[in-house]
Amino acid sequence: MTAERIDGKAIAQSMRETVSRAVGNMAIKPGLAVVLVGEDAASEVYVRNKVKACEKTGIVSFHHTLSAETAETELLLLLDKLNGDPAVHGILVQLPLPDHIDAQAVIERIDPEKDVDGFHPVNVGRLSLGLPALEPCTPRGCMILAESVRQDLTGLHAVVLGRSNIVGKPMTQMLLAANCTVTIAHSRTRDLAEVARTADLLVAAVGRPQMVRGGWIKPGAIVIDVGINRVPRADGSGKMRLVGDVAYKEAEEVAGAVTPVPGGVGPMTIACLLRNTVIAACRQTGAPVPASLV
Ligand code: NDP
Repeated sequence: MTAERIDGKAIAQSMRETVSRAVGNMAIKPGLAVVLVGEDAASEVYVRNKVKACEKTGIVSFHHTLSAETAETELLLLLDKLNGDPAVHGILVQLPLPDHIDAQAVIERIDPEKDVDGFHPVNVGRLSLGLPALEPCTPRGCMILAESVRQDLTGLHAVVLGRSNIVGKPMTQMLLAANCTVTIAHSRTRDLAEVARTADLLVAAVGRPQMVRGGWIKPGAIVIDVGINRVPRADGSGKMRLVGDVAYKEAEEVAGAVTPVPGGVGPMTIACLLRNTVIAACRQTGAPVPASLV
């Protein structure tokens, strides 16, 4: 059996086109402020990609780069300014932040209406209550990919590997809202492989290269691989390549459908960020949220 390869790149592209059309029909231009503190190489790439994606869809981006030594108070003051700026509808602070800055304090300083990452406690709470919220981009992207294979996930046993605030926990809320029976596993879970094997829908978000082997997967399951891990290439060149948390080739032999890395969840995260920015702009300006984005 060769699993269906879930093409996150194509699905994200179609979502970006939908966002672009929605932006074209708006009276104002949605604005996204992206704040980067320090010189983390991976973060710089992520920020560049987000800014580029904004430009392509007609969203105005405001890029703020602060030095690694920036005091927390200075960052909080910048957020206050962005919160009050009517041209800015979404604010994203790229994580991780330098150690001397309290990331939770930073997240909580962002106006929940502009919190396009969906990390503010107000949005986390609203998501868990089933109220309209700005939702975290990566788990929403995972949902869209899973639903591209099977529109109605009702009754499926979903197992989420990983319980982080940005992926694992919100993922479980979204799966519950989609009527799945949900198990969340983590580093203290006993018999992880056995738990994983019970999943009709398996989401791997642990940050462990290729930890999920073919034998962990129930035949026919939908497998969503969130992991982004850099490992040395096998050719001994010293260069690095990206792999997920799932051993893709093994998974392909057992699963019904599986997302690749790269080209799976990654592109969806950015597409969902653009979507959130447009939703936030509509809500802040009193415009109806286009049905194509809900
Ligand atoms: P975190 O490190 O915050 O969380 C990892 C989770 O996995 C924790 O809950 C941890 O358990 C669990 N875990 C770690 N090792 C094991 C293990 N051996 N067995 C079982 N559980 C384990 O990571 P994130 O949630 O931020 O990210 C997870 C992965 O997803 C990373 O590879 C990251 O790069 C990627 N990612 C990808 C994104 C995308 O756009 N595609 C966006 C965000 C993340 P415990 O809580 O017990 O420590």
